[in-house]
Amino acid sequence: STGIVETVLSTPLPHRQDQFQRRMDIEFYLRRAIDNQEFHLAYQPVVDVYTNQIVGLESLIRWNNATLGHVPPSDFIPIAEECGLIHEIGEWVLKEACMQNKRWQEAGLSKVFVAVNLSRRQFNDSRLSRMIQTILEKTGLHPKYLELEITESMSMEVELAADALRQLKKLGVRVAMDDFGTGYSSLGYLRDFPIDKLKIDQSFIKGLIQSQVNAVIVNTMVTMARNLNLLVVAEGVETEEELQVLRECGCRLVQGYYFSQPVMAKRIEEMLHLETKQ
Ligand code: C2E
Ligand code: CA
Ligand code: CA
Ligand code: CA
Repeated sequence: STGIVETVLSTPLPHRQDQFQRRMDIEFYLRRAIDNQEFHLAYQPVVDVYTNQIVGLESLIRWNNATLGHVPPSDFIPIAEECGLIHEIGEWVLKEACMQNKRWQEAGLSKVFVAVNLSRRQFNDSRLSRMIQTILEKTGLHPKYLELEITESMSMEVELAADALRQLKKLGVRVAMDDFGTGYSSLGYLRDFPIDKLKIDQSFIKGLIQSQVNAVIVNTMVTMARNLNLLVVAEGVETEEELQVLRECGCRLVQGYYFSQPVMAKRIEEMLHLETKQ
């Protein structure tokens, strides 16, 4: 990804000021967003294709600001990371996701895991596992219903990261490697880190039908996951054809627009309710 400085410098001057202004605006409003209750979580179902049941939910943050309107996470998460606000935002996301999942369980809906995206800066924070432990205790959510999604990152120091992961695993939560296959050291990370699940990046699923290469890669990732005793989920599944190929590969868990976009908590409640009645 390109940093803000590179982006700004490679842009003609009038736009440059716009981009800079936009970044400043986002940072300005972001500082007040939690207190003003401008965030909410959308949830996207993870489906088991053998049983056709929802087994989990990925939480995805949404920000609606009175002045800026709807700002996508790809626009504000990198800025939150740069200015340090990611710790506060990340803690809010963890609390909200755990609280919501516990509420659904108490309402008698079928039990599913909730997945939370962690940014690299959160992951490097030595207080992370303590914070998560506190949240689990306060909400009463059993740790096996929380999954943490991390991404590969070149700047992560292997020993430190492995330690951080072991601490998290001690809590009893699951750890998933997000966007698998897109980084620089996917296989090295599998070897060095106690990961529970691979999330095959959507770019491999996109070309699954058109390109034999993608199909071979996906097939290989699924087989490798199985041989390593890891769970595997395909992200960004949009069509019946893609689903069919994934079934043939033996990929049991899928996520994508084909089943559902990320939706509001109310809608998830209805979906889980239907499953509970079956
Ligand atoms: P991600 O974790 O890889 O999340 C998947 C993204 O793909 C989501 O975009 C989701 O809406 C989208 N998606 C899901 N199914 C499909 C599909 O079938 N087709 C297509 N084209 N897209 C699909 P979203 O919600 O805009 O999030 C973008 C990224 O922002 C996430 O990528 C994640 O890296 C980051 N993010 C979102 N919420 C959080 C959060 O609470 N904390 C942190 N640190 N990062 C977050
Ligand atoms: Ca994710
Ligand atoms: Ca992903
Ligand atoms: Ca991504």
